[in-house]
Amino acid sequence: MSIKEIDKSFVANTYARFDLEISHGSGSLVYDTQGKEYIDLSSGIAVNTFGMCDPVFINAVNEQLNKCQHTSNLYYSEPCARLAKMLCEKTGAKKVFFGNSGAEANECAIKVARLWGSENKGEKYYNIITLKNSFHGRTLTTLSATGQDVFHKYFNPLTEGFLYAEANNIDSVEALLLENKCCAIMMELVQGEGGVMALNPDFVKGVSLLCEKYNVLLLIDEVQTGNGRTGTLYAFEQYGITPDVVSTAKGLGGGLPIGACLMFDGVDTVLGAGLHGSTFGGNPIACAGAISVLERIDEKLLTEVQEKSKYIFSELENAEGIKGVSGLGLMIGIETVADAGTVISKCMEKGLLPIKAKNKVRLLPPLNIPFDLLKKAVEIIKEVAKECAQ
Ligand SMILES: *Cc1c(COP(=O)(O)O)cnc(C)c1O
Repeated sequence: MSIKEIDKSFVANTYARFDLEISHGSGSLVYDTQGKEYIDLSSGIAVNTFGMCDPVFINAVNEQLNKCQHTSNLYYSEPCARLAKMLCEKTGAKKVFFGNSGAEANECAIKVARLWGSENKGEKYYNIITLKNSFHGRTLTTLSATGQDVFHKYFNPLTEGFLYAEANNIDSVEALLLENKCCAIMMELVQGEGGVMALNPDFVKGVSLLCEKYNVLLLIDEVQTGNGRTGTLYAFEQYGITPDVVSTAKGLGGGLPIGACLMFDGVDTVLGAGLHGSTFGGNPIACAGAISVLERIDEKLLTEVQEKSKYIFSELENAEGIKGVSGLGLMIGIETVADAGTVISKCMEKGLLPIKAKNKVRLLPPLNIPFDLLKKAVEIIKEVAKECAQ
């Protein structure tokens, strides 16, 4: 049996996989089992921050692997403590809770908001406003937070207490705040799965002001936008807001599973002993990997991310066969004249690996993708978008 056949027979049918088996990679290049080379434009969905088999990452992880792979949260462990300190110093957060995925980071953010609401506003103040077209994860509660009906079907009853406002419509947010007992507003600043839609800065500022006016927390889901992806360490820095809670995951681990919930001033002491936990949370290997990733997301790299982003926008925005380009930093959505799926298949034939978001071709390359590879990729995308449109 081929790997594809074994997978089809024994792995749950939850994923519509591309007909491609990745064997290995190096930096921004990956190879299939036939040895065909591809430029990686998705980095495992914004996870492999420094590409495949990055030597610095491997070294950091290996060193920890040779010391201790896991301790449990019953004991202190250096990588977990150091990573939390680093995250706080780089963002202004006061405390960090570690889990193992984006959904878990969001679950923690939601628990913090509810706890804070019940302690500061009253027992009934458990509602959280999220945005239509958002994506917050696949657990029942984060699914409930996700403002897309397609994800809700079949799984009722979902967790109660989520209300959906229109993105970029401040009145729809305020109307929900007026009519309901709320503890928080939760949103992505660039809706990733929703089609790589960056929120309007005025709207984000407006939401932040409403949070103050109605005394509710501002939770920012930076699971995908975080860790340098949008050209700043966290996307909220570009919107001039101070969140109360930031959740992040994906790129933080550089390829290892980790999620983090960052709690800022005023909510840092909400979680007390016994109120939350995770067996693998703060795992030494995942944390050692994340420390090495964060150490390298410096001004130089962020400037490069911004430059690469500008280059992609300027090359593709008015190209033939392309209707528009959206996103921020190296989180990019391309609306093509031809069907996005067709464009992606053609790109794959020509040795590129973009992915899809709604009706768009989505690019999430490793942050350190060399400029020559990026140029080559952009040329192929232009060629394919034009060809498919004819
Ligand atoms: C991917 C994603 C999640 C879910 O992360 P998992 O690690 O798959 O649980 C949540 N929020 C956003 C914005 C995401 O992009």
